[in-house]
Amino acid sequence: MKFLGISAAIVSVLCLTQSVLAQEGATAPAGAGGASSSYHCDPNACKLPNCLCASQSPPAGLSPKDVPQFVTITFDDSIQAKLLATAHEMLNVKNPNGCPAKGSWYVSMEYTDFSLVQQWYANGNEVADHTFSHVGNPSAQEIAAARAMLHKYAGIPLGKIKGFRAPFLNYTADTLNEISKQGFHYDTSSTAVVDDCYWPYTLDNGMANDCWTGICDPDKVKLPGVWEIPMYAVNDNASTPQLMDVYLAGSVSDVTAWSNANFDRHYNGNRQPFGIYVHPTHLTTFPGLEDPSALKKGVVDFIQSLAGKPDVWFVTNEQLLQWMQNPVPASQLANQSYMKCELPNTGKEICNGLENITISDAGVASSNLLNACNFNTTNWGTCYNCPSVAPTLEQPTPEDHVQSNDPSYRHPVPDNCDSVWWDPVAGACLCTSSGCAYKDVAVPVNTSTSSSKGGNAVSSGTGQKPSENADNNAIGLAPVYGLVLSSVAGMIATLWL
Ligand SMILES: [Zn+2]
Repeated sequence: MKFLGISAAIVSVLCLTQSVLAQEGATAPAGAGGASSSYHCDPNACKLPNCLCASQSPPAGLSPKDVPQFVTITFDDSIQAKLLATAHEMLNVKNPNGCPAKGSWYVSMEYTDFSLVQQWYANGNEVADHTFSHVGNPSAQEIAAARAMLHKYAGIPLGKIKGFRAPFLNYTADTLNEISKQGFHYDTSSTAVVDDCYWPYTLDNGMANDCWTGICDPDKVKLPGVWEIPMYAVNDNASTPQLMDVYLAGSVSDVTAWSNANFDRHYNGNRQPFGIYVHPTHLTTFPGLEDPSALKKGVVDFIQSLAGKPDVWFVTNEQLLQWMQNPVPASQLANQSYMKCELPNTGKEICNGLENITISDAGVASSNLLNACNFNTTNWGTCYNCPSVAPTLEQPTPEDHVQSNDPSYRHPVPDNCDSVWWDPVAGACLCTSSGCAYKDVAVPVNTSTSSSKGGNAVSSGTGQKPSENADNNAIGLAPVYGLVLSSVAGMIATLWL
């Protein structure tokens, strides 16, 4: 266990004259990392496509110089119009095959506009689960409720909701066991620092990151076929690992310098994926809050600078896993089906999250076809039926507002059609070729509150794990000042390690 960054943490605690936002920069814990002594994996027994040992080297024996440098830009918490616009600014770069960069969004349900979730998905980005009400160490119901709502109100096929990230990155062995039970393909809540900077790996032999918490005890987590995509920390100039919202941890020029140095460590080394982990709320202008335009420009400029380098690909975590399961040299990536970007041409305007691509300048995607669901505290659009009452954790998908014999009834997306091809008004799948055929074989969603709850089999180390410190801010805008305290408490906790 190392003691990285303690002095920096003290400085941060003392520097309360900095802006509030700067205090929220999520800092990976002092003491994170270090190779696990309890992790054992036999590469002769654990083989692709469904098993891979944790390793700092690229999969399949590929040489680092031949593999793509993947960059994952991920977004957390609710999807709202202004936040989505910020995300699009981050992704305004192209991959070497000419397709636009794609990103992953870990969506929590409160304040989320489901019509925008569908729009994000329909344009080739990834939608993943970040629980219903954004709680650490989430119950089974918290995870299942989000999955159910993303499916019902945003039309995301259950089989396309493959990823999970724990709120505040506060996960336990129970969390990982639960997401396996619910059929998720991967978790991305753990931290990788220099010593445990592993490529994604499967949990057949347990966890190999965050071992200082005890999570790597192979008796606690053993989940064949479930992938762990560690979040890759950026070391600042005091060697303190920064994880989420790195741009809040220093001046734009300092953060750019740290980011470049860490990117080069990956790019010129073993080419482990490089992550940029964003809470869009910090980079979005809201009345009455400090203008984050300069911060945003720093991040956007950094992303643009990466886009100019050979073999750099901006992918979703799910695209990354498609490559991990069947690794090909960078020279062949452009032609892989999962890297293509052709949008479906349905031939008519349907409520699928896409603008009608046969008639240009349709404006906001399918806006005239959206239903508006209005409740006291939450208002959102959907291509599907509004619920009769506001969803709750216990009842995330209440009875529809209209009956199925009502002329305005919207037909739910069936398991034999991807929602980009599904016309919910007509109840028809417009896919007519094998190229767009889809069959969803996901584990059905179970939001029965009698299902098992996540428990506390492993100490969650709350306050010591790297955390999405700034997270509450993304749910509403009011709790900004409370975050200073919680952030400081988190930093002080790291001093005791
Ligand atoms: Zn979050």
